[in-house]
Amino acid sequence: MDLLARYIQDFEAFGRRHPGPISHSVRMRFGNSRRRLLFSALVHGDEVGTLPAMLQMMKDLEEEKIQFDGEIDFVLGNLPAAEKGRRFLEKDLNRVFGLASHQVQTQEEKRAQELSSLVLESKLYLDLHQTIAASLAPFYITAFHESSYQWARLIGLPSVYIGHSSEERFSKQGLCSDEFAQANGVASLSIEFFQKGFSEKAETHCFDVLARAIQTAESFMDSPAERSSAVDTNKSWASFKISHREELQSGRDVLHPNLKNLQELKEGQILGKRSSGAPIRAKQNGILLFPKYQDYSGENSSMEKSARDFLFLIAAKVL
Ligand SMILES: [Zn+2]
Repeated sequence: MDLLARYIQDFEAFGRRHPGPISHSVRMRFGNSRRRLLFSALVHGDEVGTLPAMLQMMKDLEEEKIQFDGEIDFVLGNLPAAEKGRRFLEKDLNRVFGLASHQVQTQEEKRAQELSSLVLESKLYLDLHQTIAASLAPFYITAFHESSYQWARLIGLPSVYIGHSSEERFSKQGLCSDEFAQANGVASLSIEFFQKGFSEKAETHCFDVLARAIQTAESFMDSPAERSSAVDTNKSWASFKISHREELQSGRDVLHPNLKNLQELKEGQILGKRSSGAPIRAKQNGILLFPKYQDYSGENSSMEKSARDFLFLIAAKVL
């Protein structure tokens, strides 16, 4: 059995001991408080590297090595895609939240509806992701939303926060999980933990974030008023705002190899080449986000196309 299959088996075993309300979910309750947290992994099926940290956290909670008074839900977003090593099967799950019921057709659209019920029950929802290209560090990526930002500052990890305006959706295709949560008054953050796949750094950073989130929820979930005054002054904290979206001009735009998420860009820097041969330049100073490398061959090319609604993004530092 491969590593992923073993982790999934472990997850489902937790689910039998602590059944959650929907498939592939685990609900752990301790004490009587009304604190409620939700963590999701595998909303993109091939971003498996946060799963070991999630399992370690469930184990530590079960063994009371980590204590919490309240309820924590853990859920796997897109298991059918994960089992095939794919981001999604029919539709990108992280683009189909908040649909009206008559629009729901594909398995991902149905799953988004199920996940939504968990999201609406929670008070803080962290959606755990990984990037397609390499990343220099883990980072928050979410819409600016007051209480969500406050939680990010309180949790303090990761220390890079990238926001986009809440009116401007991250994708033109539909709502991401965190956008759906925030639109419904639930504090929520999406977090990227390095390049997709298992790695020790993804596992350790993700575990630390989960532990900090639980500890922070224990201290502050009952007292919103205290939250705003408690925001720490983590000196390494850096906030950015998405300031440029480089559109795909043709399916044949090619970026230079080995571009990394969060790498610094200088205005005018050449990042790749259009199909015409013209250079693709950084339009402004900032940091690079989500460079897209396209696979022109094989069956994936059309299937994954809807994951590529831009070529890359640039985020500018917020002072
Ligand atoms: Zn993702």
